[in-house]
Amino acid sequence: MRKLFALIAVLSLCPAPAARAHAHGHRGPQDRSAGVEIKTTKAAGNVYMLEGSGGNIGVIAGPDGLLIVDDQFAPLAEKIRAALKAINPGPLKFILNTHWHFDHTGGNAFFGREGALVAHANVRRRLAVGAENLVGQRIPPAPKEALPVITYDSAMQFHFNGEEIRVIHFPAGHTDGDSVIFFTGSNVIHMGDDFFAGRFPFVDIDSGGSVEGLIRNIGQIIAQAPAGVRIIPGHGPLSTVEELRTYHAMLQETSGLIRQRMQQGRTLEQIKAEGLPEKWKSWGTGFINTERWIETLFRSIKPAGTAEATKEFGDLFGNQQAGLARDEFAARCTSAHHAN
Ligand SMILES: [Zn+2]
Repeated sequence: MRKLFALIAVLSLCPAPAARAHAHGHRGPQDRSAGVEIKTTKAAGNVYMLEGSGGNIGVIAGPDGLLIVDDQFAPLAEKIRAALKAINPGPLKFILNTHWHFDHTGGNAFFGREGALVAHANVRRRLAVGAENLVGQRIPPAPKEALPVITYDSAMQFHFNGEEIRVIHFPAGHTDGDSVIFFTGSNVIHMGDDFFAGRFPFVDIDSGGSVEGLIRNIGQIIAQAPAGVRIIPGHGPLSTVEELRTYHAMLQETSGLIRQRMQQGRTLEQIKAEGLPEKWKSWGTGFINTERWIETLFRSIKPAGTAEATKEFGDLFGNQQAGLARDEFAARCTSAHHAN
Protein backbone atom coordinates (compact mmCIF):
# COMPACT_ATOMS: atom_id res chain seq x y z
CA MET A 1 0.00 0.00 0.00
CA ARG A 2 2.81 2.38 0.87
CA LYS A 3 4.53 1.51 -2.41
CA LEU A 4 1.35 2.15 -4.33
CA PHE A 5 0.96 5.53 -2.68
CA ALA A 6 4.58 6.34 -3.45
CA LEU A 7 4.02 5.57 -7.12
CA ILE A 8 0.86 7.63 -7.24
CA ALA A 9 2.64 10.43 -5.43
CA VAL A 10 5.58 10.48 -7.81
CA LEU A 11 3.36 10.40 -10.89
CA SER A 12 0.94 13.00 -9.68
CA LEU A 13 3.56 15.45 -8.38
CA CYS A 14 3.96 16.47 -12.00
CA PRO A 15 0.70 17.99 -13.18
CA ALA A 16 1.59 18.66 -16.84
CA PRO A 17 0.47 15.78 -19.09
CA ALA A 18 3.55 16.33 -21.22
CA ALA A 19 5.66 15.58 -18.17
CA ARG A 20 4.73 11.91 -18.11
CA ALA A 21 8.01 10.50 -19.30
CA HIS A 22 8.21 6.88 -20.38
CA ALA A 23 9.13 4.60 -17.54
CA HIS A 24 12.61 3.41 -18.42
CA GLY A 25 13.66 1.39 -15.41
CA HIS A 26 13.96 3.38 -12.21
CA ARG A 27 13.32 6.96 -13.16
CA GLY A 28 13.39 9.12 -10.05
CA PRO A 29 11.58 12.39 -9.38
CA GLN A 30 14.54 14.28 -10.82
CA ASP A 31 14.13 12.63 -14.22
CA ARG A 32 10.66 13.74 -15.24
CA SER A 33 11.57 16.65 -17.44
CA ALA A 34 11.21 15.06 -20.88
CA GLY A 35 8.74 17.01 -22.97
CA VAL A 36 8.06 19.64 -20.31
CA GLU A 37 7.89 23.19 -21.61
CA ILE A 38 8.15 26.24 -19.38
CA LYS A 39 5.14 28.52 -19.58
CA THR A 40 5.57 32.17 -18.58
CA THR A 41 2.62 34.20 -17.25
CA LYS A 42 2.82 37.82 -16.17
CA ALA A 43 1.43 38.10 -12.63
CA ALA A 44 1.52 41.90 -12.20
CA GLY A 45 4.06 44.74 -12.29
CA ASN A 46 7.55 43.28 -12.63
CA VAL A 47 6.59 39.80 -11.43
CA TYR A 48 6.05 36.65 -13.53
CA MET A 49 5.05 33.07 -12.85
CA LEU A 50 6.78 30.15 -14.57
CA GLU A 51 5.07 26.75 -14.79
CA GLY A 52 6.82 23.55 -15.84
CA SER A 53 6.92 20.49 -13.61
CA GLY A 54 6.96 20.92 -9.84
CA GLY A 55 6.27 24.05 -7.81
CA ASN A 56 5.44 27.34 -9.54
CA ILE A 57 8.41 29.69 -9.95
CA GLY A 58 8.09 33.41 -9.17
CA VAL A 59 10.34 35.89 -10.99
CA ILE A 60 10.94 39.59 -10.52
CA ALA A 61 12.85 41.18 -13.39
CA GLY A 62 14.10 44.73 -13.93
CA PRO A 63 17.17 46.96 -14.18
CA ASP A 64 18.86 45.25 -11.19
CA GLY A 65 18.52 41.82 -12.80
CA LEU A 66 16.48 38.86 -11.63
CA LEU A 67 15.40 37.28 -8.37
CA ILE A 68 13.53 33.96 -8.55
CA VAL A 69 11.41 32.08 -6.04
CA ASP A 70 11.94 28.28 -6.24
CA ASP A 71 13.59 26.34 -9.08
CA GLN A 72 11.70 23.04 -9.72
CA PHE A 73 13.81 20.05 -10.92
CA ALA A 74 17.48 19.93 -11.97
CA PRO A 75 16.88 18.58 -15.52
CA LEU A 76 14.63 21.57 -16.25
CA ALA A 77 17.27 24.12 -15.27
CA GLU A 78 18.43 24.96 -18.82
CA LYS A 79 14.83 25.45 -19.96
CA ILE A 80 14.07 27.59 -16.92
CA ARG A 81 17.15 29.68 -17.63
CA ALA A 82 16.04 30.17 -21.25
CA ALA A 83 12.60 31.30 -20.02
CA LEU A 84 14.26 33.74 -17.61
CA LYS A 85 16.49 35.17 -20.36
CA ALA A 86 13.41 35.71 -22.51
CA ILE A 87 11.92 37.86 -19.74
CA ASN A 88 15.12 39.79 -19.04
CA PRO A 89 18.71 39.11 -20.15
CA GLY A 90 20.12 40.61 -16.92
CA PRO A 91 21.99 38.65 -14.25
CA LEU A 92 20.27 36.26 -11.84
CA LYS A 93 21.16 37.70 -8.43
CA PHE A 94 19.08 35.73 -5.90
CA ILE A 95 17.28 32.38 -5.70
CA LEU A 96 14.78 32.03 -2.84
CA ASN A 97 13.49 28.65 -1.69
CA THR A 98 9.98 28.75 -0.17
CA HIS A 99 10.71 25.37 1.53
CA TRP A 100 12.97 22.37 1.17
CA HIS A 101 10.93 19.94 -1.04
CA PHE A 102 12.66 18.54 -4.12
CA ASP A 103 10.12 19.91 -6.61
CA HIS A 104 11.03 23.46 -5.44
CA THR A 105 14.80 23.15 -4.85
CA GLY A 106 15.98 20.71 -7.55
CA GLY A 107 17.65 23.48 -9.57
CA ASN A 108 19.59 24.90 -6.59
CA ALA A 109 23.03 23.55 -7.53
CA PHE A 110 22.61 24.85 -11.09
CA PHE A 111 21.29 28.32 -10.29
CA GLY A 112 23.47 28.65 -7.17
CA ARG A 113 26.44 29.09 -9.54
CA GLU A 114 24.84 32.29 -10.84
CA GLY A 115 23.21 33.89 -7.79
CA ALA A 116 22.94 33.56 -4.03
CA LEU A 117 20.65 30.84 -2.61
CA VAL A 118 18.43 32.22 0.17
CA ALA A 119 15.96 30.44 2.49
CA HIS A 120 14.66 30.04 6.02
CA ALA A 121 17.20 28.36 8.32
CA ASN A 122 15.09 25.19 8.54
CA VAL A 123 15.24 24.76 4.75
CA ARG A 124 19.03 24.59 4.88
CA ARG A 125 18.91 22.22 7.86
CA ARG A 126 16.51 19.83 6.15
CA LEU A 127 18.29 19.92 2.78
CA ALA A 128 21.59 19.16 4.52
CA VAL A 129 20.17 16.09 6.25
CA GLY A 130 17.65 14.73 3.70
CA ALA A 131 14.83 12.40 4.73
CA GLU A 132 14.23 8.69 4.97
CA ASN A 133 10.75 8.98 3.49
CA LEU A 134 9.21 11.94 1.72
CA VAL A 135 6.13 10.82 -0.26
CA GLY A 136 7.68 7.36 -0.39
CA GLN A 137 11.14 8.43 -1.44
CA ARG A 138 14.45 8.54 0.36
CA ILE A 139 15.94 12.01 -0.07
CA PRO A 140 19.72 11.99 0.28
CA PRO A 141 21.54 14.93 1.89
CA ALA A 142 21.91 17.75 -0.65
CA PRO A 143 25.42 18.56 -1.91
CA LYS A 144 27.01 21.73 -0.60
CA GLU A 145 26.37 23.56 -3.90
CA ALA A 146 22.60 23.12 -3.42
CA LEU A 147 22.49 24.57 0.11
CA PRO A 148 21.31 28.14 0.79
CA VAL A 149 24.22 30.45 1.59
CA ILE A 150 22.03 33.10 3.23
CA THR A 151 19.45 32.03 5.82
CA TYR A 152 17.05 33.97 8.02
CA ASP A 153 14.92 33.20 11.09
CA SER A 154 11.76 35.31 11.04
CA ALA A 155 11.81 37.92 8.26
CA MET A 156 14.06 39.62 5.75
CA GLN A 157 13.77 42.26 3.03
CA PHE A 158 15.28 42.73 -0.41
CA HIS A 159 15.47 46.15 -2.01
CA PHE A 160 15.55 45.22 -5.65
CA ASN A 161 14.23 46.55 -8.94
CA GLY A 162 12.75 49.58 -7.23
CA GLU A 163 10.59 47.75 -4.72
CA GLU A 164 10.74 46.14 -1.31
CA ILE A 165 10.44 42.37 -1.35
CA ARG A 166 9.49 41.01 2.04
CA VAL A 167 10.22 37.41 2.95
CA ILE A 168 8.32 36.18 6.00
CA HIS A 169 8.53 32.89 7.83
CA PHE A 170 5.17 31.32 8.70
CA PRO A 171 5.89 28.45 11.10
CA ALA A 172 4.32 24.98 11.12
CA GLY A 173 2.19 25.14 7.95
CA HIS A 174 3.18 23.07 4.92
CA THR A 175 6.55 22.40 6.66
CA ASP A 176 8.50 24.15 9.45
CA GLY A 177 10.50 26.26 7.00
CA ASP A 178 7.88 28.00 4.85
CA SER A 179 8.48 31.47 3.46
CA VAL A 180 5.79 33.71 1.98
CA ILE A 181 7.21 36.36 -0.35
CA PHE A 182 5.53 39.70 -0.79
CA PHE A 183 6.44 41.90 -3.78
CA THR A 184 5.15 45.14 -2.32
CA GLY A 185 5.50 47.32 -5.43
CA SER A 186 4.11 44.84 -7.95
CA ASN A 187 1.41 43.71 -5.48
CA VAL A 188 2.04 39.98 -5.84
CA ILE A 189 2.40 37.30 -3.14
CA HIS A 190 4.21 34.00 -3.72
CA MET A 191 2.81 31.57 -1.16
CA GLY A 192 4.91 28.48 -1.80
CA ASP A 193 3.15 25.27 -0.82
CA ASP A 194 1.09 26.94 1.90
CA PHE A 195 -1.33 27.35 -1.01
CA PHE A 196 -2.43 24.57 -3.37
CA ALA A 197 -4.99 26.38 -5.54
CA GLY A 198 -8.25 24.45 -5.97
CA ARG A 199 -6.94 21.15 -4.60
CA PHE A 200 -6.26 19.46 -1.27
CA PRO A 201 -2.75 20.37 -0.08
CA PHE A 202 0.11 18.12 0.84
CA VAL A 203 0.90 18.91 4.50
CA ASP A 204 4.31 17.49 5.42
CA ILE A 205 3.76 16.60 9.06
CA ASP A 206 7.10 14.76 9.17
CA SER A 207 8.83 18.03 8.22
CA GLY A 208 7.09 20.01 10.96
CA GLY A 209 3.93 20.88 9.02
CA SER A 210 0.47 21.09 10.60
CA VAL A 211 -3.05 21.57 9.24
CA GLU A 212 -4.00 23.77 12.18
CA GLY A 213 -0.90 25.91 11.70
CA LEU A 214 -1.66 26.18 8.01
CA ILE A 215 -5.20 27.39 8.71
CA ARG A 216 -3.92 30.09 11.08
CA ASN A 217 -1.22 31.21 8.63
CA ILE A 218 -3.63 31.45 5.68
CA GLY A 219 -6.09 33.38 7.85
CA GLN A 220 -3.39 35.92 8.72
CA ILE A 221 -2.40 36.39 5.10
CA ILE A 222 -6.01 36.84 3.94
CA ALA A 223 -6.69 39.39 6.68
CA GLN A 224 -3.84 41.58 5.51
CA ALA A 225 -3.73 41.01 1.76
CA PRO A 226 -3.96 44.31 -0.16
CA ALA A 227 -6.82 44.85 -2.60
CA GLY A 228 -6.24 43.39 -6.04
CA VAL A 229 -3.19 41.35 -5.03
CA ARG A 230 -2.24 38.52 -7.41
CA ILE A 231 -1.25 35.27 -5.70
CA ILE A 232 1.20 32.68 -7.01
CA PRO A 233 0.37 29.36 -5.35
CA GLY A 234 2.91 26.56 -4.89
CA HIS A 235 0.77 24.46 -7.20
CA GLY A 236 -2.16 25.48 -9.42
CA PRO A 237 -2.99 28.59 -11.46
CA LEU A 238 -2.33 32.25 -10.66
CA SER A 239 -5.00 33.19 -8.10
CA THR A 240 -6.85 35.96 -6.29
CA VAL A 241 -7.60 36.55 -2.59
CA GLU A 242 -11.10 35.22 -3.28
CA GLU A 243 -9.62 31.88 -4.33
CA LEU A 244 -7.37 31.89 -1.26
CA ARG A 245 -10.52 32.44 0.85
CA THR A 246 -12.20 29.42 -0.73
CA TYR A 247 -9.09 27.35 0.03
CA HIS A 248 -9.14 28.62 3.64
CA ALA A 249 -12.83 27.72 3.93
CA MET A 250 -12.09 24.23 2.64
CA LEU A 251 -9.32 23.78 5.21
CA GLN A 252 -11.57 25.00 8.03
CA GLU A 253 -14.65 23.01 7.02
CA THR A 254 -12.94 19.70 6.29
CA SER A 255 -10.79 19.85 9.42
CA GLY A 256 -13.83 20.83 11.54
CA LEU A 257 -15.77 17.89 10.15
CA ILE A 258 -13.00 15.38 10.80
CA ARG A 259 -12.43 16.76 14.32
CA GLN A 260 -16.12 16.35 15.06
CA ARG A 261 -16.11 12.75 13.84
CA MET A 262 -12.97 12.02 15.86
CA GLN A 263 -14.68 13.43 18.97
CA GLN A 264 -17.60 11.09 18.28
CA GLY A 265 -15.13 8.22 18.54
CA ARG A 266 -15.06 7.20 14.87
CA THR A 267 -12.03 5.30 13.58
CA LEU A 268 -10.01 6.46 10.59
CA GLU A 269 -11.54 3.68 8.48
CA GLN A 270 -15.08 4.78 9.41
CA ILE A 271 -14.29 8.41 8.66
CA LYS A 272 -12.78 7.53 5.30
CA ALA A 273 -15.84 5.45 4.44
CA GLU A 274 -18.07 8.48 5.19
CA GLY A 275 -15.95 10.69 2.94
CA LEU A 276 -16.26 14.47 2.54
CA PRO A 277 -19.13 16.66 1.25
CA GLU A 278 -19.74 16.55 -2.49
CA LYS A 279 -18.71 20.20 -2.96
CA TRP A 280 -15.06 19.37 -2.22
CA LYS A 281 -14.96 16.41 -4.60
CA SER A 282 -13.00 18.13 -7.38
CA TRP A 283 -10.36 19.13 -4.79
CA GLY A 284 -9.31 15.48 -4.54
CA THR A 285 -8.28 15.04 -8.17
CA GLY A 286 -4.70 16.29 -7.68
CA PHE A 287 -1.67 14.92 -5.86
CA ILE A 288 -3.66 14.46 -2.61
CA ASN A 289 -6.93 12.61 -3.16
CA THR A 290 -9.84 12.72 -0.72
CA GLU A 291 -8.68 9.62 1.15
CA ARG A 292 -5.16 11.00 1.63
CA TRP A 293 -6.57 14.34 2.75
CA ILE A 294 -8.71 12.65 5.38
CA GLU A 295 -5.66 10.69 6.57
CA THR A 296 -3.67 13.94 6.80
CA LEU A 297 -6.42 15.62 8.81
CA PHE A 298 -6.77 12.61 11.10
CA ARG A 299 -3.05 12.58 11.76
CA SER A 300 -2.68 16.34 12.20
CA ILE A 301 -5.70 17.13 14.36
CA LYS A 302 -5.16 16.83 18.10
CA PRO A 303 -8.29 16.69 20.25
CA ALA A 304 -8.63 19.97 22.19
CA GLY A 305 -7.36 20.03 25.76
CA THR A 306 -4.85 17.20 25.41
CA ALA A 307 -1.20 17.65 26.35
CA GLU A 308 -0.31 17.28 22.69
CA ALA A 309 -2.71 20.01 21.63
CA THR A 310 -1.34 22.32 24.33
CA LYS A 311 2.20 21.65 23.17
CA GLU A 312 1.28 22.38 19.58
CA PHE A 313 -0.34 25.64 20.59
CA GLY A 314 2.86 26.52 22.42
CA ASP A 315 4.99 25.67 19.40
CA LEU A 316 2.86 27.81 17.13
CA PHE A 317 2.70 30.86 19.32
CA GLY A 318 5.84 30.48 21.40
CA ASN A 319 7.99 32.15 18.81
CA GLN A 320 7.43 35.78 19.71
CA GLN A 321 9.90 36.98 17.15
CA ALA A 322 8.09 35.26 14.32
CA GLY A 323 4.78 36.60 15.59
CA LEU A 324 6.10 40.15 15.65
CA ALA A 325 7.56 39.75 12.21
CA ARG A 326 4.22 38.61 10.84
CA ASP A 327 2.40 41.55 12.39
CA GLU A 328 4.98 43.90 10.97
CA PHE A 329 4.69 42.18 7.61
CA ALA A 330 0.97 42.67 7.63
CA ALA A 331 1.26 46.35 8.48
CA ARG A 332 3.98 47.00 5.93
CA CYS A 333 2.32 45.05 3.13
CA THR A 334 -0.74 47.18 3.44
CA SER A 335 1.04 50.50 3.80
CA ALA A 336 3.66 49.77 1.13
CA HIS A 337 1.03 48.95 -1.41
CA HIS A 338 -1.22 51.82 -0.55
CA ALA A 339 1.73 54.19 -0.84
CA ASN A 340 2.13 53.24 -4.52
ZN1 LIG B 1 6.12 21.20 -0.87
